[in-house]
Amino acid sequence: MDFQKLVELYEELEQTSSGNKMRELLSDFFKKVPPGEIGLVTYLTLGRLASEFDDVVLGMAEKSVLKAIALAAGQDLSKIQKMIRETGDAGSVAEKMWQKKPRPLVSTSPLTIHELFEKLHKIASSSGPGSQDLKTNLLASLLSKASAKEAKYVVRIALSQLRMGVGDMTVLDALAIAYTGDKKNKEFLEKAYNICPDVKIIAETLVAKGLKGLEKIDLHVGRPIKMMLAQRVQELEEIPEKMEGKIAVEAKFDGERVQTHKDQKGKITLFSRRLENITHQFPDLVEYLKKYLQPKEFVLEGEIIAVDEKENPLPFQTLMQRRRKYDITEYVKKIPLQLKVFDFLFIDGKSLLHESYEKRWHYLEKSINKNNHLMPADRIITESVEEIDEFFQKMLKKKYEGIIAKSLAGEYQAGTRGWQWIKWKKEYVKEMVDTFDLVIVGAYYGRGRRSGVYGALLCAAYNQKKDSFETVCKVGTGFTDKLLEELPKKLKKYEMNAKPARINCKKEMEPNVWFEPKLVIEILAAEITKSPFHSAELALRFPRFVRFREDKKAEQATTIEEIKEMVREK
Ligand code: AMP
Repeated sequence: MDFQKLVELYEELEQTSSGNKMRELLSDFFKKVPPGEIGLVTYLTLGRLASEFDDVVLGMAEKSVLKAIALAAGQDLSKIQKMIRETGDAGSVAEKMWQKKPRPLVSTSPLTIHELFEKLHKIASSSGPGSQDLKTNLLASLLSKASAKEAKYVVRIALSQLRMGVGDMTVLDALAIAYTGDKKNKEFLEKAYNICPDVKIIAETLVAKGLKGLEKIDLHVGRPIKMMLAQRVQELEEIPEKMEGKIAVEAKFDGERVQTHKDQKGKITLFSRRLENITHQFPDLVEYLKKYLQPKEFVLEGEIIAVDEKENPLPFQTLMQRRRKYDITEYVKKIPLQLKVFDFLFIDGKSLLHESYEKRWHYLEKSINKNNHLMPADRIITESVEEIDEFFQKMLKKKYEGIIAKSLAGEYQAGTRGWQWIKWKKEYVKEMVDTFDLVIVGAYYGRGRRSGVYGALLCAAYNQKKDSFETVCKVGTGFTDKLLEELPKKLKKYEMNAKPARINCKKEMEPNVWFEPKLVIEILAAEITKSPFHSAELALRFPRFVRFREDKKAEQATTIEEIKEMVREK
């Protein structure tokens, strides 16, 4: 298939501000894609070259991309830089240059999707000394084959800034419509995607083997699965009501969730909650996993926490300092960590996904050799509310965040927030106060003391059913002056000219600036009320910024369903 065809789709997608139209365009297009190319098309539609957990990221620096444009167009870099200052979008600059430029004589054959994909991969995989120049040259040669519109999108893909607002769920919806004729079947695609979060594999399996093929997808060591999530309740007493029989109550640690995989060859890979490969950030943890775990092959989950010299837990923010590209060895010494292991999903050739929590814990306990660096999560087994509360208070004294109750009979439900796991945090004890992880979708210019910076941010919750973002509050408090100053810079790369298609917003709340839904922040709010002004039809009252949640993707924000559930509980 020619890339030109995909470009025509991109152009249409860019024009639409309706999520449904977007799905329709995508599914019509998918129907026409040859089976051997459907996987690549799904990646490219998401502006990716591989699944999120593969370390294949293009994300070239703007300067290198501008150099490539200059090289391919035979222009001075300064001219290109001047144009970019005027338009702010490197893709449009390339398009403009190419419109003026006669089509090259050397290459008359059109750019195919396969060729584009292969060349982009070559750019992504070149590393080491001199690789920046090599990347620039490769991109320039790719651009010289492209038409004006193709150049626009090649540049955006190279910068990892496709920004069409298509998300993974939008692609799954469109695949379900295109290949099963019914959007309702997305449920089955999503279930498989939770266990295998790679759109290419899902698309190719669906095309080749249908829904039956998707059912057979299981956990593979080295390929992360989406993590199981916890529900919340309003009263502690509800926990035993929601779960039958005995309950395991574990401490809730305030750190970073990690899924660790060890394959038969001994290779260890760590995945974050966003399923990014974060192995290089925690060389100390990799060593502990090699040293203290008996099975040859395993997948386990736990929470990484920063600890002081007496092994007392330190706040999440301290651990976040370990999220860095440089000085890793120095920070390994500076901020020691512990892994609190709480789940075991695979052991020596056997997937434990369909085993009960109790059985999985049995494998967990028996696999860990005693040591001070990684250990089973602190927990008790009980049926009594008093004991749950007692354990909760004890965990707070230990400076943990709260507790997570888990049903002993529960299977691991990948990517699902169900009643098998229920969280209870210290904030819940203060009346009507709760925290929400919301996506920044817009900003309002500040006035008075805040002129020149943003006065407030428009935040949205995720609507899982519709795969959209619904506004729930405008937050202007909780920011330090320093943060207020930094915000415009931090948000700049997400700025959009018009409302992105998957954001729903009522006229009354329209912000001055729109953002691509990417950045998640934690908000503390006092109350949930009905609202005619927010698209969620609910609003959070007295919202206050708490912290950035860079460990969460937009689709992992608090959902509308969760907020509604909280209202029902009251
Ligand atoms: P939340 O982010 O508020 O939805 O809470 C769920 C998160 O709590 C998980 O994603 C983990 O990162 C974290 N967590 C801390 N301790 C545990 C535990 N014992 N079991 C499961 N998750 C835990």
